Amino acid sequence: MTFDAVVVGAGVAGCTLARLLAEKGQSLLLLEKRRHIAGQAYDEKDEHGVLVHRYGPHLFHTASRRIVEFLSRFTRWHPYEHRVLGSIDGCLVPLPFNFDSLEALFSPKEALHLEEKLAGAFGEGARISIWELLQTEDERLRELGGYIYEKVFYHYTAKQWGREPEELSPDVLSRVPVVAGRDGRYFTDPFQAMPDEGYTALFNKMICHPGISLERETSWKERLSFSQGQIFLDGKRYPGDVWFTAPLDELFDFCCGELPYRSLSFDFSHLPVDRFQPACTVNYPNKEEFTRITEFKHCTGQEVPGTTIAYEYPRPCSLAKGDIPYYPVPGEESARIYEKYSRLAESYKSLFPVGRLAEYKYYNMSQAMEAAFSAAEKY
Ligand code: UDP
Repeated sequence: MTFDAVVVGAGVAGCTLARLLAEKGQSLLLLEKRRHIAGQAYDEKDEHGVLVHRYGPHLFHTASRRIVEFLSRFTRWHPYEHRVLGSIDGCLVPLPFNFDSLEALFSPKEALHLEEKLAGAFGEGARISIWELLQTEDERLRELGGYIYEKVFYHYTAKQWGREPEELSPDVLSRVPVVAGRDGRYFTDPFQAMPDEGYTALFNKMICHPGISLERETSWKERLSFSQGQIFLDGKRYPGDVWFTAPLDELFDFCCGELPYRSLSFDFSHLPVDRFQPACTVNYPNKEEFTRITEFKHCTGQEVPGTTIAYEYPRPCSLAKGDIPYYPVPGEESARIYEKYSRLAESYKSLFPVGRLAEYKYYNMSQAMEAAFSAAEKY
């Protein structure tokens, strides 16, 4: 069988691309190294029947109508707005840090004073980055910034990334703002919901198309090779396109150096209680080795006896040792290395890197899908 194109990786970007291209009439070979599809969004029922996200909490949110319309062809939705609490000095306070967090940690008088200052300086309801707060002119607000930086960001970031916050692109910490108001939602996108039967079911439906042939447990290395601007499939020169969603440094055998990634490990435990904690995710920014605990029933809305939680531990990542890359590490050094790989990729006319790993961008699910949409459109 000849394929018009090969898509490497059946994760969020790969499945989306495969479907979009199949609907344009192409026949595609979709290669997936793991036993399952859906990438890090993979979910399944554990042995107690609780739907869990095996690679950590995935909360869907988007501002894109076309993405909602596209996905709604493959799933119904369970409405859910993500809420996170942070364990700070023994209190569980809302994150992003907002007026309610202030009131939980400061005296009523001091909290009110700081709320007035925040709203005065940035505008009622503003979502500002911790960096902005640290640089503000008002001394008391700068002190507050220092406090939030220490209690919420510094140690969490050091654990999560194994680096000082300054070594990362400022955008990383800016993902979680400080709010000059009471909107404690983690995301503000107009559409926030969970696929009602889970992500795996959604992506299964998405790639169920006569134009798509999925091969699981098949690394691209077993089928494809790349040499001097030419692509080979099963040893023969391949004239079709390759949409590549795996790490680009691995594709080029790390010839320009290894791109840094971070990995995670999870400790799942099932408890004979209805609920373990008051929110889907509780962050532990300080002493603990883990960064957060997720209780899946909060976001999936599943009604089932007992509950399953996952402790999340950041880990170093070596692709050579077979670790799973979860996060690119945005920063100047990694951007320089990535640029070299990107130029190498451009020397292959029919090779298209797409998605969080191949583009080395800290995409959320909706952004990875947008990347797939624009890639398919440009094509
Ligand atoms: N962050 C933090 N403390 C928190 C939550 C987030 O320092 O309580 C920082 C940390 O560097 C983290 C980044 O903000 O990696 C982005 O957080 P987000 O919750 O978006 O991470 P993800 O869910 O993608 O792992």
